[in-house]
Amino acid sequence: MTTEPVAAEAGRDFIRDIVQADLSSSKHSRIVTRFPPEPNGYLHIGHAKSIALNFGIAQEFAGKCHLRFDDTNPTKEEQEYIDSIQADVHWLGYDWGTDLYYASDYFDRLYDWAEGLIKAGNAYVDDQSQEEIRVNRGTLTEPGKNSPFRDRPVDENLDLFRRMKAGEFPNGTRVLRAKIDMAAGNINLRDPVLYRILHAEHPRTGTKWSIYPSYDYAHGQSDAIEGITHSICTLEFEDHRPLYEWLLDKLPVPSKPRQYEFARLNLTYTLLSKRVLTQLVRDGHVSAWDDPRMPTIAGLKRRGVPPAAVREFVKRIGVAKANSVVDVGMLEFCIREHLNKSAQRRMAVLRPLKVVIENYPEGQVEELEAVNHPDDPAAGTRKISFGRELYIERDDFMENPPKKFFRLSPGNEVRLRYAYFVKCTGVIKNDAGDVVELRCTYDPATKGGNAPDGRKVKATMHWLSAKDSVPAEIRVYNQLFSNPSPSAANFAADLNPESLEVLHDARIEPSVAADNSGEVMQFERQGYFVRDKDSAPGRPVFNRTIGLRDTFAKEVGGKG
Ligand code: ATP
Ligand code: MG
Repeated sequence: MTTEPVAAEAGRDFIRDIVQADLSSSKHSRIVTRFPPEPNGYLHIGHAKSIALNFGIAQEFAGKCHLRFDDTNPTKEEQEYIDSIQADVHWLGYDWGTDLYYASDYFDRLYDWAEGLIKAGNAYVDDQSQEEIRVNRGTLTEPGKNSPFRDRPVDENLDLFRRMKAGEFPNGTRVLRAKIDMAAGNINLRDPVLYRILHAEHPRTGTKWSIYPSYDYAHGQSDAIEGITHSICTLEFEDHRPLYEWLLDKLPVPSKPRQYEFARLNLTYTLLSKRVLTQLVRDGHVSAWDDPRMPTIAGLKRRGVPPAAVREFVKRIGVAKANSVVDVGMLEFCIREHLNKSAQRRMAVLRPLKVVIENYPEGQVEELEAVNHPDDPAAGTRKISFGRELYIERDDFMENPPKKFFRLSPGNEVRLRYAYFVKCTGVIKNDAGDVVELRCTYDPATKGGNAPDGRKVKATMHWLSAKDSVPAEIRVYNQLFSNPSPSAANFAADLNPESLEVLHDARIEPSVAADNSGEVMQFERQGYFVRDKDSAPGRPVFNRTIGLRDTFAKEVGGKG
C-alpha cells in the first residue's frame, strides 16, 4: 500500500499546467470542462476528486464546467440518482449555472451521425451474438476475427440500422459497430460497439428509442457538441482515447476536445465502486445511500463532514498520473482539522454512570459557566447545571485501577470540568456485582475547578447533571470494512461487524437537545457529533462525525 504524496504545490498539477499552456498559447480562449456522471448511483468521495478538478479548473481559469448526465443505460438509471447528484455537487460548493445537460439530449444527433458513419463505410450492423462478438474480439496477444457481417453493403446496413431504431428486433440480436481494425493492438479499436438494441423506457426520452449508444460513442460526441476543451477522466479510459479521437476524426463534430486522464482516488478501508455501493444498500449492509458509514457524499454529509474538509482533502492529495491508495487517515485529519476550529464545545455522557455527591445539599442547583470554544472567545460561554446527582462516563471509573489510571477510583480525587474537585467515597453494586452508582464528596472551595490550597488532581472529566441533562441516542461509526484493502469481489467477508455502535442511554446538555442548527459540535473528550435526521421530538439522535484525539489526554491519562 502506498500513500499518494501530497502535491508539491497544492493546487498545481499536470492538468492545470496543460490548461495554463493552452490559454497562454491561445489554443483556447475559454476553458470548458465537464463532470459526466452516469445516474446509476449516488456520488462518492472519488467523484468529489473529479468534481473538484473539473469545477476547480473552470473557476481558477475563468472558464466554465458543465454537469452532464451520461444517461445512456436506461435499465440502471433513475431520477433519484439525478436529483442526488445535483444536490451533492451543490453541497460540495460547485455550480454549473445553466450548463446542465444530458447525453440523451443528443440522441437524435448521435443517431444521424451514426447513419453518416454507415454511409461512409465506417460502421456496420453485426448479427453475431454477444458471445460470438466477445470470442471473436481476440485477446491481448491474439488478433480478433472479422465478423462475417463486416462487409455488408451500405444499403443493407442502413436498412437494418433503421429497423433496429424502429424497434423491429429483440434485445441483443444486432449491434452497430465501428469498422476500424480487428487486428488492432488496442482492443478498443477492434470494431467497438456503437449502438445496442434495448427495449427499455428511458427517464427522459420515454419509449422513443429502442437502441442506445455505447458510452464510447456518446461520450466524446457529447463533449464535442458542448465545446468541451479538456475532457478529463480517470486512467481506465486511457486506452479508449484512440477511439475517442477516431470518432472525432470521422464525424462532422463542431469541436475537437482533447481527453486527459488522471489517477482515480482509492482509499484504505474503503470501496469506491458503484456496483459495490449499490449492493451494500440493496442487501441491507447499510441503511441507505446516505448511511454515515458510506463513502458517498450523502453519507459524509449526514455524518457531519463539512464540505470544506472534503475540498481540503482533495486539494492535499493532488492530481497524479499514477494510481495509488490514499490513507483514509488523511481524510480524517482534514475533517478534524476543520471541525477543531469550527465546532462549539459541549458536554455529553455517552455511557452514563450515576454519581451522588453526598455532601451537596438536596434540591440545590447551581449554574456554572462553561466555555464554548477554547480558542475563540467570541464563541462565548453558556450555563450548565450542577446538582447532587450527576452522570459521568462509565469508563472514567475503575474500582481496582491499574497504576497509571488517574481518573475516578475509590479514594481518588478528580476535577469535574467547570465545576469542582470530587472524591469517590463509595461504590454501589447490583446483585450481579456490577457498579451501578458512585458516592462522592465535593470540595466547595474548588468551585470553577481550582483548589485555593494549590493541590493538584491528575484528571479532568466531563459530566452532566442527572436532572437537567436530556436522554439521547448516539450512533458511533467505525470503518465499514475491517480490511485496509477490502475485496471488491467478496466485500461481504471484509465488512467490519463493529462499524456501528448505537448508544441508547446517552445524555446531552439541554441546549444540545434543543439545537436545530445542523452544526457539528464537539462533545468534550468524545469527538464531533451532529444531529441526525432520525431525531424525533423528545428523542434526539446524534451521529458521531469523527472521534477526537483527546485534547486533554495527558491530563486524563490512559484515555486515547
Ligand atoms: P464505477 O464505480 O462503476 O466505475 P464511475 O464511478 O466511473 O462508476 P461515473 O458516473 O461514470 O461512474 O463517474 C463520473 C466521473 O467521475 C467519471 O469521469 C469518472 O472518471 C470519475 N470518477 C469515478 N470514480 C472516481 C474516483 N474514484 N476518483 C476520481 N474520479 C472518479
Ligand atoms: Mg464510469
